[in-house]
Amino acid sequence: MVDTSEQYYFFDEVFFHEENFCFDNEMLREITSRALTKVPSKIVDDLFNNCLAIIQENDASYYPNHIFKNKSLIVFSEKIKEFSKEEREDLVMHEVAHFHLRHKSFFDKDNEYIQALKGEEFSAFYKESMSRFEKQEVEADKTVKLWLDKYEQWRKKEND
Ligand SMILES: [Zn+2]
Repeated sequence: MVDTSEQYYFFDEVFFHEENFCFDNEMLREITSRALTKVPSKIVDDLFNNCLAIIQENDASYYPNHIFKNKSLIVFSEKIKEFSKEEREDLVMHEVAHFHLRHKSFFDKDNEYIQALKGEEFSAFYKESMSRFEKQEVEADKTVKLWLDKYEQWRKKEND
């Protein structure tokens, strides 16, 4: 049985949330807020407290390091603007799922460690990283599916 006790934010509540993770970009805020109305509100709270989102523009930009302190970062591509509503929603939720699951980056070691690896050691390390990466992708997609199912259940219940 699906748990339908989740709480959700309305669009305006996410968009105007004082800790919204798109700190400097209104367009990105608009795109992500739509998707976040389908993510349980306690996960959105965690996201806003512990993660930031930026969009990679053509222009160079500078972000002082205090902005990122102790926070995860989601970097969206400008291509998101060309996506359909559904594709945007999928992409945003997928990246948020990586955050929620506290996934690691592809190479979860510093450069020094990686550079010290010899031929076969590197192959093994690469293979291991690749397999973790693939597992994480599947896990993120599963999480998005679960969120969407739960949200649909909740919506149906609300409309009864
Ligand atoms: Zn991914």
